[in-house]
Amino acid sequence: MSEIKLVFDEIKPKKKAPEHLADLTIAERRAKVESLGLPAFRANQIATHYFTHYNEEPNSWSDIPAAMRPLVAEHFLPKLLTPIRQVECDKGKTRKDLWRLHDGVLVETVLMRYKDRTTVCISSQAGCGMNCPFCATGQAGLTRNLTAGEITSQVVAAARACASGELPGGPTRLSNVVFMGMGEPLANYNAVMKSVRNIITPQPDGLGIGARSVTVSTVGLVPGIEKLTSEDLQITLAVSLHTPDDELRDTLVPVNSRWKVKEVLSAADKYVAMTGRRYSIEYALIRDINDQKWRADLLGRLLKNRHAHVNLIPLNPTPGSKWTASRKEDEIAFVKTLEKYGVPVTVRDTRGREIDGACGQLAAANKA
Ligand code: SAH
Repeated sequence: MSEIKLVFDEIKPKKKAPEHLADLTIAERRAKVESLGLPAFRANQIATHYFTHYNEEPNSWSDIPAAMRPLVAEHFLPKLLTPIRQVECDKGKTRKDLWRLHDGVLVETVLMRYKDRTTVCISSQAGCGMNCPFCATGQAGLTRNLTAGEITSQVVAAARACASGELPGGPTRLSNVVFMGMGEPLANYNAVMKSVRNIITPQPDGLGIGARSVTVSTVGLVPGIEKLTSEDLQITLAVSLHTPDDELRDTLVPVNSRWKVKEVLSAADKYVAMTGRRYSIEYALIRDINDQKWRADLLGRLLKNRHAHVNLIPLNPTPGSKWTASRKEDEIAFVKTLEKYGVPVTVRDTRGREIDGACGQLAAANKA
């Protein structure tokens, strides 16, 4: 089946993005520094500027000799993201950044400041090949995978915005990263894992964000979940289930024709067994499509003995969509039913709706 083949095809950019510090392991950074004729300790300085000070301008680095800076800039810090547009809402506490990549491709990032945390929602691919009919990104198809450098740079830009006090409320620390922007992270596995390592490795070699504060969200690519399990990291796994029955899921999440609900949940259960981390079930509530009482009952029965938490997302209708969010009373009834089964459940807020920065609304390619 062609749509399945897409899942593990490596979609390469026509011209590869220039190699960046964030594409390399710690050992590779050192080796590259030495191959350029520089002492190995420079690798540590470069990493410190990037991961600790979020400074991507070697011209301003006073601990590197001026004559050496252009070489360092060219080989370790090529500009991967060019800011194109920034839109805000919630009095600036939610902000969407549109970036252009080296080959003209566009991706989006959403930064959200809450009372107790600041979260960045990043893209792992330009577009997405999973074709979920209710998701704006899914409508445009997949353009290409992002590199680890392109993914990590979105997080570094967010960390810098937080530290420099760009968000209302003064300087703060970027505390959470969610792979819930454009793309299916497990279909770009290697680059995503490299960027996860950059995010969770302590400073100065990484950003030092706690693994538990990093969430990878997937449509349910079982081999990808299995691979992730074998990494034995403390990151949070989110599974976009959207309905407990295969019949409807085959249409809402087309990849379900390959990996059924039971297989996806059993892969997620193994993730719990390995990591001890409860997973999250993402469920977009769509009026009269997947919000019936009987579906809530079925979901409750399916999850009651599992270590899962349900995150209900009121559907953000995409332009031209025939679907809309559930009625408030149906949403409340859905929550109550799940609670009856003892399944932990929350309803996600709809931050960023007015700027098309909310869940499932990222579709940069259409709007440029
Ligand atoms: N491909 C990954 C991550 C990207 S989307 C995944 O599917 O998990 C992040 C979440 O937003 C997913 O749960 C996705 O199903 C949900 N989503 C997509 N479109 C949406 C919409 N229009 N309204 C509400 N949630 C949506």
